[in-house]
Amino acid sequence: MKKLVLLLVALAPAAVALDAEISFKSTEIEPGIFLVEAVGGFGGGNMAVLAGEDHVAMIDDSMPPLAESLLTHVTATAGRPIDFMINTHVHGDHTGGNAHFAASGTVVFAHDNIRKRLLDDPSGAGGPGGLPVVTFGDGVTFHLGNIEARVIHLPDAHTDGDAIIHFPNANIIHAGDILFHAIFPFIDLDSGGTVDGYIEAQKRIWAMADDDTKIIPGHGSLTDKAGLKSDIDMLVESRELVKALIDKGMGVDDIVAANPLAKFDSFNWSFITSERVTRTLYRSLTTEK
Ligand SMILES: [Zn+2]
Repeated sequence: MKKLVLLLVALAPAAVALDAEISFKSTEIEPGIFLVEAVGGFGGGNMAVLAGEDHVAMIDDSMPPLAESLLTHVTATAGRPIDFMINTHVHGDHTGGNAHFAASGTVVFAHDNIRKRLLDDPSGAGGPGGLPVVTFGDGVTFHLGNIEARVIHLPDAHTDGDAIIHFPNANIIHAGDILFHAIFPFIDLDSGGTVDGYIEAQKRIWAMADDDTKIIPGHGSLTDKAGLKSDIDMLVESRELVKALIDKGMGVDDIVAANPLAKFDSFNWSFITSERVTRTLYRSLTTEK
């Protein structure tokens, strides 16, 4: 958790500097289902608005400084207030608007472990008012008129409280941060994430999808089953490359110096570089069974 806070602090100066330039864009990718993205700078993870006939739900809510402009934007997108918020995981670039939305009447749903972690430190949810009101273990299903949204917990992946949202009728999957598309993933070992759980979770999403499925990643652009496959292949190969050096008896600094992930340098972004991923792979592979 502390590391995550440091990471978010590292991002903060850029975010603050760009605050005035960050806005939100909604795209209706299937009837009533909108992909919501920040534009103009880093404005948190990809979100979605689910505008049903009688109720409106939303997936994730960016960061605290952007909560007010986000609420204004998505209320206009939906044409009505947001009834339910679903958090895909505990990070402050996905839960940051919770308190602000809750103050306007939105009920926040999240995995049990998200609430546990936010009880320790609610700042990533905008304060104690952002704590989830309804929590779940394996999952929960929303029935919003024609939109059915199945929230499914996948264990020990990006964190220990991840959920994906599957829309079986609309053929969409929101993967939360179990997918960073065409960029290196952040796997939060300090919040219960594991490399092998992450790969397993990605394979489960792949198995749920068909060639027409639209897949919303937590970060990166909207993709599909083939795009997800290329991300899985990259991570599986990266794991093997680092594992081969561990099996030779090399220590983490020597492995970093050997730069085994050099071929994937195009996946570098922000603070998630090949060195960082190498260190994450090393740590996860040498502490997991
Ligand atoms: Zn995250």
